[in-house]
Amino acid sequence: MNTQPAERPERLACETVHARESLILAPYAMHSARSAGRRYREPEHPYRSPFARDRDRIVHSAAFRRLSGKTQVFTGNLGDYHRTRLTHTMEVASIARTIGRTLRLNEDLIEALALAHDVGHPPFGHAGEDILDGCLHGKGGFNHNRQALRVFELLETRYAAFPGLNLSLEVLQSQAARAHKEAPRHPPLLEAQVVDAADSVAYTTHDADDALELGLLELEEMLQWPMWNEAAGRVRRRCSGLTRAQLRRAVVHQLIDWQVGDLVDTGRQRLAPYVETAAGSQTQQNVRLAPSTDVAEQKAALENLLYQRVYRHPSVLAVRQRAQSALRAMYQALLAEPDRLPAKFRGRAAEDGSARAVSDYLAGMTDRFAVRAFVHRFPEHARDWPGETGVIE
Ligand code: MG
Repeated sequence: MNTQPAERPERLACETVHARESLILAPYAMHSARSAGRRYREPEHPYRSPFARDRDRIVHSAAFRRLSGKTQVFTGNLGDYHRTRLTHTMEVASIARTIGRTLRLNEDLIEALALAHDVGHPPFGHAGEDILDGCLHGKGGFNHNRQALRVFELLETRYAAFPGLNLSLEVLQSQAARAHKEAPRHPPLLEAQVVDAADSVAYTTHDADDALELGLLELEEMLQWPMWNEAAGRVRRRCSGLTRAQLRRAVVHQLIDWQVGDLVDTGRQRLAPYVETAAGSQTQQNVRLAPSTDVAEQKAALENLLYQRVYRHPSVLAVRQRAQSALRAMYQALLAEPDRLPAKFRGRAAEDGSARAVSDYLAGMTDRFAVRAFVHRFPEHARDWPGETGVIE
């Protein structure tokens, strides 16, 4: 006699990736079954979706691991509270997955895109990006979103069968849309839009939190801004007698929860006409996921404040200048003597020219590696460098 309990129909329906997705995801989500595949054909995995494989390939890449040593806004010498490029990336993934799950979008794809979104950042954050862009003026320039595509398609060498990570075309096209925001070749997928929105929520909130911790901004000043004031009001209505530190953290949580709720509400409204249809690609083209007008305006004011008071703060600018002089000197020295490049990048120089290969090498460095390389491998240029290793690290 068969004593096995009968399989419940929902369980059977979830046995394959495609069946599970068709049960859980909205029709307008990017279902794995509709993926355009990979540049180099590979058989499907028996139980991981193509986008889950993309996520795993990104997590296991060297470029991803190096995010832990790369600046988000503040370098290591300013303390150990603030975000690195890696923790920012994980916060973006966490926020984006929440939004995507609630809107019934493809969470695997969202996570892959979120973990990928800053992989092309050079050391020293936007200071590093600006200097490489200047070095490559007239030679294609440098942009971290475009660099991420080079990492995924060329620079990571983990597989014998193909260069790069051979990610799904949806991931590559979404990253290309980030790189060419003004004139994207394809309208961004809803999943990519969620990651963009989550990135903006994460950095506007956490950069302010880090700046408060470092004393670059004062809490009382932040609370005069409408968005922080409204969030603090919501916190105080729920609990009283908070210390300043407790209030600050509660406001940060409230700000994220508020913005995520706003994105979910506006997203639901905009997606409502498409819930019952199967016109996935049409929805992807017609719907823009963005905050409500009210939140967008308040956020823009905060971004302006961050730009004026945090990103251009003298202590941030001082580190920026030291980082830039080190990167520029290494770029010029390596361009003059490309034989000093590691073998992998000498190979790239033969393919793409020395300037691009030098920039690939420098962009892949962590902050700490860049400082050590500069001080120890280019002592002739580092002698009069205004920063010492301990200052900038
Ligand atoms: Mg980011």
